[in-house]
Amino acid sequence: MTETAALPIVIIAAVVGLVAVILIMRRVRHQEEEATAESPFAASTEGEKRCPKCGMGNLWTDDRCISCGAHLRG
Ligand SMILES: [Zn+2]
Repeated sequence: MTETAALPIVIIAAVVGLVAVILIMRRVRHQEEEATAESPFAASTEGEKRCPKCGMGNLWTDDRCISCGAHLRG
């Protein structure tokens, strides 16, 4: 095999490797998005309690959600 014949093979191998890296990076990013989407509401934030049922922000002194009336934790 001459160098001229081997060159396209090297280029193809490089392209395949690049595509594989892009696909892996996309998959990782997609998994991160799914992990974030799993729990859209934090249990509590600064100065307010998030309703576990509807995600409404309530005052930390409240023990019931002002939106749906669900019992709040904490
Ligand atoms: Zn609620």
